[in-house]
Amino acid sequence: MIDFSLSEEQKRLLEKARKFATEEIKPVAIEFDSEGTYPEEILKKAHKLGLMYTNIPKEYGGSGFSYLEHYIITEALNYECPSIAQMMGISHLSMAPIQIGGSEEQKKKFIGTMTKSYRSGCFCLTEPEAGSDAALMQTVAEKKGDGYVINGTKRFITNGKYADLLCLFATIDRSLGTKGICCFAIPRSTPGIEVVKVEDKMGHRALNVAELKFTDVELSAENLIGEEGQGFKLAMMALDRGRVNIAAVCTGIAQKALDEAVEWANTRVQFGQPIGQFQGVHFMLADMNALVVASRAMYLQGGWMLDQDIRCSTEAALAKCFASDAAMKVTTDAVQILAGSGYMKGAIVEKLMRDAKLTQIYEGTNQINRLVAGRGILRKPSVLF
Ligand SMILES: Cc1cc2nc3c(=O)[nH]c(=O)nc-3n(C[C@H](O)[C@H](O)[C@H](O)COP(=O)(O)OP(=O)(O)OC[C@H]3O[C@@H](n4cnc5c(N)ncnc54)[C@H](O)[C@@H]3O)c2cc1C
Repeated sequence: MIDFSLSEEQKRLLEKARKFATEEIKPVAIEFDSEGTYPEEILKKAHKLGLMYTNIPKEYGGSGFSYLEHYIITEALNYECPSIAQMMGISHLSMAPIQIGGSEEQKKKFIGTMTKSYRSGCFCLTEPEAGSDAALMQTVAEKKGDGYVINGTKRFITNGKYADLLCLFATIDRSLGTKGICCFAIPRSTPGIEVVKVEDKMGHRALNVAELKFTDVELSAENLIGEEGQGFKLAMMALDRGRVNIAAVCTGIAQKALDEAVEWANTRVQFGQPIGQFQGVHFMLADMNALVVASRAMYLQGGWMLDQDIRCSTEAALAKCFASDAAMKVTTDAVQILAGSGYMKGAIVEKLMRDAKLTQIYEGTNQINRLVAGRGILRKPSVLF
């Protein structure tokens, strides 16, 4: 009944993702990190090869892979550089509300048009005054005839400068709290959208993150996804998928850090033998490997649940917290094992440690994800069987 083996087709898919990561991402990972480069040529190639919209159904221009397959590919791509790989995979989160709540016509029109380009989408939830407390949002959607006029600012938006399609959350009535929040699909060409700032960051430096201002952005009723007041629920359901995805991202980061540490432990000689021969290093490697394996198991479980259409908010929050804390610990220990050589700029583990930090912050900080998981566990503890 339990089988971790991949089909021949899935093995080919994984091989394709690994080859792409090794040939296209690995050679530029350090350079793009240092320059904060937008990986445009890589995105164009990934788009051509069907590695960009992996989880979007074929009828809307995606590759139509299952969640499980998408997450396995995500780990493989993130292994070489999480910021470049996440620019490839941002549609998984940003298009999820439209995939979940949009009508057939909306999916064809908005997602079907977006997938023709490599510029993908973005997910506009966070605001200057509304981070963890997303329901506090001040971006308003004022009703005008059959349509809406949007005014407000969204902060820390991944792919905000380049995305062709924006998935935006705004409130029609702040006094309604979460029940006033609506979700809108907005093509970039809509007048009134301005990039006011592109962020400079500690890690994930090839990931474009921007602040966007919306001034009198006029939308028609067909831009509204789902019904009025359903936006918050759609955002949370999208984040369930996004959080499993982050667990896969973290597994890629941690596996890479572990592999770098193992290689160093086998080759660096001190006191007349490779440092990997010392028990103190064995213990570190054993703990690191356990964290990688457990993180992988958690994202596989989340992916399996999503493919079975089983709600997985608790499992997704747990996977996100566990795998991101694991990635932080494993990358920190990898720097420790490489010591001075790992601490210097240009060392992969130095970059991975900075990259890992973000995974404890976005898509809900780990404190917020523990709140989500804790509430879910009080209703029903997470058990697989
Ligand atoms: C690089 C990057 C990319 C991002 N991409 C996107 C994106 O594409 N789209 C988007 O919408 N957002 C995005 N975000 C925003 C991200 O989701 C928020 O930064 C995050 O939700 C936290 O919000 P905040 O930074 O305002 O922190 P705050 O909410 O101000 O939190 C500050 C601290 O208080 C803690 N805290 C807050 N409330 C509680 C509580 N109830 N219990 C315990 N502790 C609490 C937090 O855990 C944190 O440690 C991105 C952020 C970054 C850094």
